[in-house]
Order: sequence, then structure tokens, then C-alpha cells
Amino acid sequence: MIKQRTISRAFSAAGIGLHSGARVEVAFSPAPPGTGIVYTRTDLSPRVVMRCHPDLVLDTHLCTALVNGDGIRISTVEHLTAALSALGIDNLLVDVSAPELPILDGSSMPFIYLFESVGLKELPAPKEFLKVLRKVRVEDGDKWAELNPRESGFGLDLTIDFNHPAIDRDLEHFEMDFSGEGFAKELSRARTFCFMRDVEYMHAHHLALGGSLDNAVVLDDNRVMNPDGLRYKDEFVKHKMLDCCGDLYMGTRSILGSFSAYKTGHSLNNRLLRALLSDSANYRVVTFDAGGDQGGPLAFIGHPAEAS
Ligand SMILES: [Zn+2]
Repeated sequence: MIKQRTISRAFSAAGIGLHSGARVEVAFSPAPPGTGIVYTRTDLSPRVVMRCHPDLVLDTHLCTALVNGDGIRISTVEHLTAALSALGIDNLLVDVSAPELPILDGSSMPFIYLFESVGLKELPAPKEFLKVLRKVRVEDGDKWAELNPRESGFGLDLTIDFNHPAIDRDLEHFEMDFSGEGFAKELSRARTFCFMRDVEYMHAHHLALGGSLDNAVVLDDNRVMNPDGLRYKDEFVKHKMLDCCGDLYMGTRSILGSFSAYKTGHSLNNRLLRALLSDSANYRVVTFDAGGDQGGPLAFIGHPAEAS
């Protein structure tokens, strides 16, 4: 059986908030089966609790936020969500001391490292997957994203098109069969990126005060400004694919199917997930109750402390 997962023990971390530039504390705790990913804003009185759900997702241009009916938000959740998808973590409590998670290094790698360090725990309930049954497609101008049925596993195929001297056209396409190990190796270190003209605009408007070369790849009109250059030669498309993994896991169910997209972003990915879920003929919730999980649909990384 492929089981639901949480972390083996509680721990906390801290970092700088992308919006405020101020220190943000975040505490992670294990949660029982069926909990999902539940955020609590501990800086508010009374505290506000939000369960991660595709309907709460708002693409704010700067980041992805969860926003509840009262307009309370938790921003910069996307790179954590991508890490959780890779680790197969279905249940987690996330207490945050600010309206945003720390940006850390702008990738998912620090989250992967932290969760692997504390260890994962399997829970006595089957993990739920969304099996795509028929094609679902969304478009926005020349941008598009779609999901198609696939024999097994989760395939990703993404093309970006930035027309920038520092972004090699031959490196604007990437495809992979999703696995926790593949994510950790190929995608997790890819950082978010932005253009210097946007940084100047944002800082002038007191936005992205925590943004720096420490947590983003910054491009001027011709080149990458970070002194150490890129982490992958195709870091741009890989970061966009990392974002796709996070965006498609906002419902905390792993997808079994084929994802392909052109110039997509958080907003279009969220529309795709909502479109998938809007008609029960598009998908089926499946579990793998019987047999071993060797050769199962996803080879997750991590070593659960609690054996079955
Ligand atoms: Zn991102």
C-alpha cells in the first residue's frame, strides 16, 4: 500500500520574508491522516487557520498566496508546496508568524533538506492520487497548459519563451517523469528569477523588500547578475517546472497523468487544476491499497521511520 505521510517530529525554521524583508518564523508539526496541509497565522489574534486548497490560491505576480474569504493571506507558499509534492507529504501543520513564509534561497531545496533531516513518517491510511481520465486544457492568449491520461506515473513537459540574451533558446524546454528523487536532483535547487527593471520598480514601491541576489536569479538586459551564475544551465525552465509541481499539488493529491504546457505560470496552472476538479468525469481518486509499493506510480524519496 502507498500510505499517506507526515513528518516524524515537529521543528521550526526562520528566514526573511520576500515582501517585508523582516524575519519570519515557521513551525512544522506532524498531522494525522486526512488533515491536508494546514496553515495557521500565529501573528493574528485570534489565530487564523487555512487548509491549503486550489480555490484559495491567488497568483499575486510576486508569489502564490492562499487567501481566505476574509481576505487573510499567507504568501509565498509555492516552493514549500513543491517540496511537499516531491516528498509525498500529505499531512502537515504549518504555523507562520507573519503573512508570508520565508523565501529562503528562492528554491525548494532548503525545505527538502529540512524535511529529510527530521525524517518522514508513514500513516495508517492510503495516499490518494488524482488519476486523469480525459484531456483538460486551459489557455490564456498564446499560453496553454493541459493534462492528459497516462498509463502510469506523472509526466511533465514544459516550454518557456523569454526571448532574453541570457536565456538560451535551446534550454527553454524540459521534460521529466516525476519522482521525488528526480525532483530533488533536477528541479529542487532551481531558484526563482526576475528582471532588474522589475526589482527597481518593486523596491521603489516598497514591494519585495526581502528580494535579493541571495534568493533569486536576477537578470539585467543582457546577463545574469548573480556573481556565482546559474545552478543548472537550464535553471529558468527548471524553476518554472518546480512551480508547476507546487501549483498542481495545492489540493494535496498527487496527479497521475501527463502535464504539458507552454509559457504557463501560477495562475494558469491553478486554472488547470480547478478545471480538472470541476467535472468528476475528468478524474478519479485512486489509492494503492494492495501489494507492495515497489514499482508503484511514484518513487518517493525519504525514509519513513515507521515501517508498515
Ligand atoms: Zn517559483
